[in-house]
Amino acid sequence: MRKAADVQNTAVILGGGLTGLSAGYVLSSAGISVKVFERDSVVGGLSKTIVKDGFRFDLGGHRFFTKDARIDGFVRTLMKEELLSVNRTSKIYMRNNFFDYPLKPFNAMFGLGILTTFKIMGDYGTEKLRRLLRENECVSLEDWVVNNFGRTMFNIYFKQYSEKVWGIDCKRISAEWVAQRIKGLSLAKALKNAFFKFTGKDIPTLTDKFVYPSLGIGRISDRLKDEIDKKNAVYTDAGVESVNHSDFCIDSVVVKDRKGTRIVHGTEFISSMPATKLVSLLNPAPPEDILDAAAKLRFRDLVVVAIMVDRRRVTDQTWIYIPEKNIPFGRIHEPTNWSDKMAPEGKTLMVMEFFSFKGDSVWNETDERLQDITIENLEKLGFIKRSEVIDGMVVRVPKAYPLFEVGYKELCKKVYDYLALFSNLHVAGRTGMFRYYNMDHAIESGLDTAERIIQKNNSFAGDSDEELAWAGAEKCEPRL
Ligand SMILES: Cc1cc2nc3c(=O)[nH]c(=O)nc-3n(C[C@H](O)[C@H](O)[C@H](O)COP(=O)(O)OP(=O)(O)OC[C@H]3O[C@@H](n4cnc5c(N)ncnc54)[C@H](O)[C@@H]3O)c2cc1C
Repeated sequence: MRKAADVQNTAVILGGGLTGLSAGYVLSSAGISVKVFERDSVVGGLSKTIVKDGFRFDLGGHRFFTKDARIDGFVRTLMKEELLSVNRTSKIYMRNNFFDYPLKPFNAMFGLGILTTFKIMGDYGTEKLRRLLRENECVSLEDWVVNNFGRTMFNIYFKQYSEKVWGIDCKRISAEWVAQRIKGLSLAKALKNAFFKFTGKDIPTLTDKFVYPSLGIGRISDRLKDEIDKKNAVYTDAGVESVNHSDFCIDSVVVKDRKGTRIVHGTEFISSMPATKLVSLLNPAPPEDILDAAAKLRFRDLVVVAIMVDRRRVTDQTWIYIPEKNIPFGRIHEPTNWSDKMAPEGKTLMVMEFFSFKGDSVWNETDERLQDITIENLEKLGFIKRSEVIDGMVVRVPKAYPLFEVGYKELCKKVYDYLALFSNLHVAGRTGMFRYYNMDHAIESGLDTAERIIQKNNSFAGDSDEELAWAGAEKCEPRL
């Protein structure tokens, strides 16, 4: 084992997304030495903002919203006057019509037709009755939605959109996912909300306002990096290639950057990179059953296509959801509706999300063809004319969404029980925890992890060995 004097009392952070940077910011502010390693050429991960010739866009518009005063305060203090307050207005495109989202009953009723509306209500009533008589087993997304919204609503909206987003049959998507995401929502509550909205009495959970940095969501990560860089360092273009350990204690990581490969030692290690990747980088490698379980956890990937347009605005919407199968993308946003600084004066851009699996026909399509298909469909939807297009850009986003297939929980348990054995490894964040975290959860995960390390540090600082300024390798006991 390495001597205490050799140990560099450094927190090494793998991944420079919101989780890793939030943790780094708190540790750095507490006077702890921090090194953040980010594989990409910029920080921000899924919450970065792409910039091209004065046009700016997120990887799918990112709205910051939290009910947690600590996280809200953290972001507001960091961003100060950069934050704008934005009104949310969204639509869903179904059966050649745009409906307000969340649903407004009269709009939806006239759009879908009275007969379909009655069918939806009738179905929902039948389901409620059936559940009163016999509780259904609720395993998949399909079970959950039919129980809570009825079969017709499932067929019209949820089935198409969910299968477009996830790329697998709704029977194979775990009910856990939808139950977590739309906790407590049902057709009755959605309608109640819609009517309350209609009479002006809003229900606070479906918020209509959010904050947004005027130059894009990536500014939050940029600001965190700037703050860390004042005392410590965030390295970009620096991918972690191996995580070295012995006796369930991490000793170092191997980092590859533009200059070559180097070994970086540390005392505490935070990993916000995908857990599946982390497991594959452990050296020595974990037992075969852990590798197997990690390999079975899958992510859904995303291809983002931005089209720059020579017009001031195309829509007045925050998001437009497109469940229809005949349109190849699932969601649109126009960044200039979030902040007018997202495009040069008098111009705008539209950003489309194609859900994909890395290596499928969408992922492998050329950028030119993807832009061409996108423009064709935007014309079909009546948004733009091809002659107005100035430019385009395609960004491929691996591991955008953890894919909650039926059975994923058992696989996660195996992987995370194993990772928990490491005494100085802290797994955090969205892909790190294989959780459907939003930005506020990612930040919270980073802050909580940093605070745990600070507490651990304080408890060891009280020990007699002065050289161990904080949790050093001598304290590295496996959590068996
Ligand atoms: C399309 C889309 C829309 C979203 N919209 C919203 C929204 O409106 N509101 C909201 O609150 N949230 C939204 N989110 C969620 C939000 O993006 C995430 O919660 C947040 O960005 C997660 O941050 P993270 O740091 O945990 O993970 P990540 O951003 O995934 O960061 C992990 C980092 O690790 C890096 N990494 C990976 N491997 C290595 C390696 N070997 N070495 C070094 N670094 C490595 C990656 O490059 C990445 O930067 C959205 C997500 C998506 C995909």
